[in-house]
Amino acid sequence: MQSFNYRDGELYVEGLSARALAAEFDTPCYVYSRAALEGALNEYQQALEGIPHLVCYAVKANSNLAVLEVLARQGAGFDIVSVGELERVLAAGGDPAKVVFSGVAKKASEMARALEVGIHCFNLESAAELEVLNQVATEMDKVAPISVRVNPDVDARTHPYISTGLKENKFGVTMDEALRMYQRGAELPNIDIQGLDCHIGSQLTELSPFIDAIERQLSLVDQLQSQGITIHHLDIGGGLGVRYRDETPPSIASYIEAVRTAIGDRPLQLVLEPGRSIAANAGILLTRVEYTKQTPERNFALIDAAMNDMIRPALYQAWLDIKTVSQRSEGEVLDWDLVGPVCETADFLGKERPLNIEAGELLSVFGAGAYGFVMSSNYNTRGRAAEVLVDGERAHLARERETIEELLRLEHRLPADS
Ligand SMILES: *Cc1c(COP(=O)(O)O)cnc(C)c1O
Repeated sequence: MQSFNYRDGELYVEGLSARALAAEFDTPCYVYSRAALEGALNEYQQALEGIPHLVCYAVKANSNLAVLEVLARQGAGFDIVSVGELERVLAAGGDPAKVVFSGVAKKASEMARALEVGIHCFNLESAAELEVLNQVATEMDKVAPISVRVNPDVDARTHPYISTGLKENKFGVTMDEALRMYQRGAELPNIDIQGLDCHIGSQLTELSPFIDAIERQLSLVDQLQSQGITIHHLDIGGGLGVRYRDETPPSIASYIEAVRTAIGDRPLQLVLEPGRSIAANAGILLTRVEYTKQTPERNFALIDAAMNDMIRPALYQAWLDIKTVSQRSEGEVLDWDLVGPVCETADFLGKERPLNIEAGELLSVFGAGAYGFVMSSNYNTRGRAAEVLVDGERAHLARERETIEELLRLEHRLPADS
């Protein structure tokens, strides 16, 4: 099913017109499709049928409670990187026993909360973290399930800011360090060795880096086994890319097929942490053209969404497809720079886009469901956009637009006697 499509020249999200959604919820506004979220998760689950597995959706990609609830109800687990994300998962009705906790600098207090609710596994990223976790677990009289995140030193061939599996990156530990951590972990009474973890980057469009990384993980699994340390699950991280423009990432099915082949008949539970490949193409950002401004060099469309709403173009030179909500037959197609109201030259969502627009036009930014709203900020004292989840012909306000009052709420003027 196509969740976002044009009918008689008007953009629809499932059964609702984008124009009607913009009228009801105003712009800028993120709109997610429940069917698209469920469809992507289903693709993973179907491809994994017949082998023990746990799909842990990477919460950081889109952490709205309604989005998490949709996925939790379909049986997803969750990959978290902070105690805040853990509380979101719990608030959305997610099962803590299906949570894996990633991140390079977990605080002792975060570990304690995760131990208290009983998560599936801590993905450790340093020897020092292992010692702290053991101490926290000992104090609580608990046993902490762990895996070590290895850095396999493979080039994910993606944007440098979203590449994590090279030895110069801050993530994970070397194979040798991992071996020492497992040996140490095996001696610690409050540590329970469960898995081996890896995540090499995001928006990967080729299979070979994944398979190289898995092969390196498997050789460590074998080496550990020969030393009497059994690994029960293999966490291969997330990172599968999506099509934003003309990328040709492997399908979820062919990715899983290749992973299954690489693992062979080893009795390992497979843990995955997909984020982008579940949420990116399940969301759009609706924005309105406030003004047009034509200079001798450029045609600017001043839109009401900005880099504080969607930072990926400014941060990663990301290209997102942008189309008008209504397809017009009259008027002229010109190359437009779509720029927001924020006082930065990097404040653009697209450049030189051939579009037929005028002031007041509604635009849809596609591929906005992952790393969109979650990376938004209040820069320029702009309230964050509303988030809406569409389910067939129903629209659910999943997050209200922030008001100015809310933006000022945590701040305090000077004391009266100062
Ligand atoms: C960000 C992240 C993911 C998700 O990556 P995607 O590219 O969105 O699939 C998974 N695991 C870890 C540890 C991450 O940091």
